[in-house]
Amino acid sequence: MSMVTVIRNAEVYQPEHAGVKDILILAGKIAAVEENIRLDLGGAVEAEEIDASGMAAVPGFIDCHEHIMGGGGEGGFHTRTPEASLGDLICNGVTTVVGCIGTDGVGRDMTALLAKAHGLENEGITTFAYTGSYQVPVHTLTDSLMKDIMMLDKVIGVGEIAISDHRSSQPSYEEFLRIAADARVAGMLSGKAGIVNVHLGDSPRKLDLIRRAVFETEIPASQFLPTHVNRNEALFQECLDFAAEGGNIDFTGNEDIDYWETICDEVRVCKGIRRLLDRGISSDRFTISSDGQGSLPMFNEKGEFQGIGIGRASCLLKEVRECVRKEGIPLEIAVKGITSNPASILKLSGKGRIKKGFDADICLLTRHSLELQTVIAKGQVMVRDGKQIVFGTFEKGR
Ligand code: ZN
Repeated sequence: MSMVTVIRNAEVYQPEHAGVKDILILAGKIAAVEENIRLDLGGAVEAEEIDASGMAAVPGFIDCHEHIMGGGGEGGFHTRTPEASLGDLICNGVTTVVGCIGTDGVGRDMTALLAKAHGLENEGITTFAYTGSYQVPVHTLTDSLMKDIMMLDKVIGVGEIAISDHRSSQPSYEEFLRIAADARVAGMLSGKAGIVNVHLGDSPRKLDLIRRAVFETEIPASQFLPTHVNRNEALFQECLDFAAEGGNIDFTGNEDIDYWETICDEVRVCKGIRRLLDRGISSDRFTISSDGQGSLPMFNEKGEFQGIGIGRASCLLKEVRECVRKEGIPLEIAVKGITSNPASILKLSGKGRIKKGFDADICLLTRHSLELQTVIAKGQVMVRDGKQIVFGTFEKGR
């Protein structure tokens, strides 16, 4: 890895549009974003130059909800989904991932999740995790949820706690409230977000537990990050209200971008973001995550298992592209959902921006078709000209 890299003539989105600039990378950090950066290293150090003419530079993607060690299992043990490989992430532009467990908090636990997160970090990207799973009481690594958030570097909050779902532990209001209160205080004491990532199911109870907590207690709406908000129209309407009242909402992308609209009333991500913006809600309030490696189980009205698919991180860029092409949302707004918004909502310092002092996590996209060309994570080129060049330990191509 070169210690000095210069990206030349990129159309820079910080994500704010900054025009055509060079980006100087030193020792894994962004050292300058300026026009015509001149390097005089006296031949002592070799600099790598990347020509980004005709390309857009956007921050490396942050996938804030991904089942990195697999999830699922709703159709029996053989339906447990596989782990994410390094390639599953970097080939889709993801340079930071927040791992979570999911439905099965017995067959998978926090020890294994953190081991997986450390493995991906060793392979070159940045990883965080939520403690717990769908289940309440929360299955932690230490003896308490507060201790997990305060004392485990990678743990930034709790989740995904399932509500309004037939797979949920059906927490009482008091149980749910205690989780939020503990996460909030633990976050405060450790300088973390202490976010409660909430899995929303299909039921008509929708956001009831969250809205009651915000209404009846001192806990602010921003403590919660509900996910799968676009799962159905009725749920989405209530989530828009929640965002209008100061909450943040996480859309779940879908790689098979036309599929859901044909079989149920899932709100297409680009249309949902358009509605959020048209309602005058701040463009800081949404994130898009992949639910990568998570199962996409299908149940009939009786709750009987019908079949299963798998989430993929490739949906992130597809959704952003749809926002731009189908809804005319500017790239600098759409891309916030997978860069600066998750970074600030989850307090991931040094992440989500192309600015001096930030980590050198950068994606280069072709300017018009928005195809992923180059991915840089902490200053290291991971994908070049659309081809993976850094491989996970057990991936092909080493
Ligand atoms: Zn979920």
